[in-house]
Amino acid sequence: MTSPGSSATDLPDYAPIPPSALGVALNDQGYYVGRVERNLYWVTDGTYQAAFLTTRDGVVLFDAPPTIGGNLRRAIDEMAAANGVTNRVTHLVYSHHHDDHSGAASLFENVVHIGHEETRRLLLRDNSPARPAPDVTFADRYTLEVGGERVELAWHGPNHSPDNIYIHFPDHDTLMFIDVVNAGWVPIYNLNLSDDVIGYVAAPSIVLDYPWTHFISGHLGRLATREDVAVHQAYIADIQASSKAALASVDPTPFYMKYGAAGNSWGFVQGYLDAVTERAAAPIIAKYTGVLAAADIEIYTRTTTFAIMQSLRLDSGPSAPVHP
Ligand SMILES: [Zn+2]
Repeated sequence: MTSPGSSATDLPDYAPIPPSALGVALNDQGYYVGRVERNLYWVTDGTYQAAFLTTRDGVVLFDAPPTIGGNLRRAIDEMAAANGVTNRVTHLVYSHHHDDHSGAASLFENVVHIGHEETRRLLLRDNSPARPAPDVTFADRYTLEVGGERVELAWHGPNHSPDNIYIHFPDHDTLMFIDVVNAGWVPIYNLNLSDDVIGYVAAPSIVLDYPWTHFISGHLGRLATREDVAVHQAYIADIQASSKAALASVDPTPFYMKYGAAGNSWGFVQGYLDAVTERAAAPIIAKYTGVLAAADIEIYTRTTTFAIMQSLRLDSGPSAPVHP
């Protein structure tokens, strides 16, 4: 275990980022704005992504990450001017309630906020002035029509968060779905800090059920492809298989003898489950280093493996043999 150093030179080195994971170059203000198709644009600061649609009646913004912040305004101004349409943002669609994708919402005043009904409930609960609760909400589906453009919003169950929605642009061959698939990169801790493991694991196949060529994933410096989604699915499927194999093969007896028999139940749980996680994660880290960026930052794959392994026990079962 490496302890955090007091200077950059003390910090660990990681494997080079695979070329397939590299993003676009940023401008002097620290952002990139590019056309997805026609009047649909995406913006990135290299780590976060948002999108916007310019129309004759106003701009529709999709997410407002605080790290991009005021650069959203600059990107919109630049593209609206290039297209000769208004730069006035009239609608803001929330992908989900998390502040890291919406904390700059209050920069845009007098806009209609649109989101899932659970997004409204969670934003009212969290009472953050940076993220006004949506005025327009929906349960399963909502068609947004602005300035002759159409966007289909849908909720297909909880995944990364309870309220994370699919944003389909049928006339732009694009799907936006945040915080599940990272193009060319492994998920960060615990499946991208996700609430619902079963929903998170199932979501990429729902993504692939939509027709699209361009995918806005919410993170890092490039758009995703259908192949990126497939590689993500393979990584997760490998973790599931490896976790099942480790659960079946790691012998709990030594941990029980050392800790459980002496009355330290949680000592037994820690020793056994960490041994299962280590055995399950090691081959995945080896297989994907050089394939997915940050696969060699072992804590990510380890914590994701732990979450999947716990879901196998607790959601899918069995969690333990039934006592005779
Ligand atoms: Zn999130």
